[in-house]
Amino acid sequence: MEWHKLPLAAQLEKLRAGEVESLALTRALLERIKEKDSRIKAFLKVTEEEALAAAEEADRKRRAGEERPLLGLPLAIKDNICTRGITTTCASKILANFVPPFDATVVERLKEAGAVILGKTNLDEFAMGSSTENSAFFPTKNPWDPSRVPGGSSGGSAAAVAAGFCSGALGSDTGGSIRQPASFCGVVGLKPTYGRVSRYGLVAFASSLDQIGPLTRTVKDAALLLQYIAGHDPKDSTSAPEEVPDYLAALKTDLKGKKIGVPKEYFGEGLDEEVRQKVEDALRIFREELGLETKEISLPHTPYAVATYYIIAPAEASSNLARYDGVKYGLRVEADDLIEMYKKTRSQGFGPEVKRRIMIGTYALSAGYYDAYYKKASQVRTLIARDFEEAFREVDFIIGPVAPTPAFKLEERVDDPLKMYLSDIYTISVNLAGIVGLSLPCGFSKEGLPVGLQIMGPHFSEPQTLALGHQFEEILKLYEKYPEI
Ligand code: GLN
Repeated sequence: MEWHKLPLAAQLEKLRAGEVESLALTRALLERIKEKDSRIKAFLKVTEEEALAAAEEADRKRRAGEERPLLGLPLAIKDNICTRGITTTCASKILANFVPPFDATVVERLKEAGAVILGKTNLDEFAMGSSTENSAFFPTKNPWDPSRVPGGSSGGSAAAVAAGFCSGALGSDTGGSIRQPASFCGVVGLKPTYGRVSRYGLVAFASSLDQIGPLTRTVKDAALLLQYIAGHDPKDSTSAPEEVPDYLAALKTDLKGKKIGVPKEYFGEGLDEEVRQKVEDALRIFREELGLETKEISLPHTPYAVATYYIIAPAEASSNLARYDGVKYGLRVEADDLIEMYKKTRSQGFGPEVKRRIMIGTYALSAGYYDAYYKKASQVRTLIARDFEEAFREVDFIIGPVAPTPAFKLEERVDDPLKMYLSDIYTISVNLAGIVGLSLPCGFSKEGLPVGLQIMGPHFSEPQTLALGHQFEEILKLYEKYPEI
C-alpha cells in the first residue's frame, strides 16, 4: 500500500478501521523521508524516535478503545512553531540550539487530538522570504522540479506534503507564506481569519499579520486540521472567542447562486499568461459546473499592498526580533562589553534578509519618520481592508491567482529582494485585512508546474470558503497527481 498517497482523511479512516496501525504508517513515511528527502530537503529535523513512540502510544490507546479525532495521524510542523523538547530554529543561526520548554497551542491541540509529529520543516529565516532560500541551513527544493524553489516561507511544509512525506503539515502566513508555497508545490494551503488560530508559541514575525494554518493534499484535509487547531486560547489575547463550527460538515454547503468577485487588479501586468489561463478556466468551472455567478470587481488600493506590507511587517519584526540579544535565548557571542556582545551576537546570528527587515523596520519606526512611514502605512492598511469590506457587500467570495508565476528557479531572485517581494503581490492584502485566504491547485503549466488558485472570503468565512474549495477540487481531482521524486 502506498500510504503516502492517501490524504489525511483516508489515512484516518484506515487507522480507525484497523486496516493499518499508526506505527506502520509512521514507519512507512519515515522510510520515505529517509529515502527521498536528501533530494528535497523539506525537513530541518526528523523526530524519528519521538514519532515512533507517539505512534506506539496511539496504537495502544486505540486498542484500549480510547478514540481521539486524529489518533495516530502523522503530521509535520514548520520550524517556527514551538515544540517542547525539540529544537525550534526558525531556520536561523540565532536559534540553532533553541529547545522550547513548551508546546505552541496548536501543537498541544494536535497532540491532544492524537496526532504524531514526524519533524520540523524548513523555512525562510524567521519566515521572511518567498522561496525558502533564506533558510540559514539549506534551501528546500520543489518536488515537481528540483531546480525550482518550493516557494516560501513555509516551503518545507509545502514540499513535504507534495513529496508524500506526510499528508498534512502546519505553516504560518504573514504575507502569503502558506498560500504561495502551496501554490508552487501543488498542494492546498489555508490562511485562516486573523485570530481564528492561536499564535501562542508561533515565533513572532509580524504579530498583527501572522496566522498559523494547514498545508494538505486536499481542501477536506485542511478543514480537518483547522477543526483541531482553531479556537480561542487564553494564552493569545488576539485569538478570537468565536465558536469553532463543524468545518467538515460545512463542506457540503449548497453554494449555487453565490457570487464570486473577480478583482481586475489581480489580472493586470506581471501576471503570467499560463497562470491567467488556468485561473480563468477555473472561473468557468465555478460558473458552469458549480452554478456560481462571477462578476468583475475592483479592489482599488491593491497597488499599494506590497509597499504597505513592507513597512508594517518589517516594523513589527524589528520590534519582535529585539529579544534576540544573546541574553534571553539562543546564540550568544561573547565580547568585552555588553554592547559589543549584542552587536556580535546579532551580526553573526541573523542572515542578510532578516537584517534588511530589521533595518527597514527600525527606520520606519524612528522618531521623525514614524508618521511618514508607519502611520501612513497603517492608514493605507485600513483602506485596503475597506476595499474588501465593500466588495463583500456585493459578492460572497473573491477569486484570483495566488502568485503571478509558477515556481521560479533556485537562485533566480536571491539577489533582487524587490523581485522576490513581488511574488506576494496577490497574497499580502488578505493578511493586511485579516480575512480568509485559501490556495488550491487549479492546473499545471506546460512545463508541468502546479498553478494555484486563491479563494478569499470575509472574516470567519472558513466554512463557506473551504466548501467552495472542496467542491472545486472534487471536479478536477488534482490531488491524485504526484510528482516523481
Ligand atoms: N514573503 C513574505 C515576506 O517575505 C511573506 C512571508 C510570510 O508570510 N511569512 O515577508
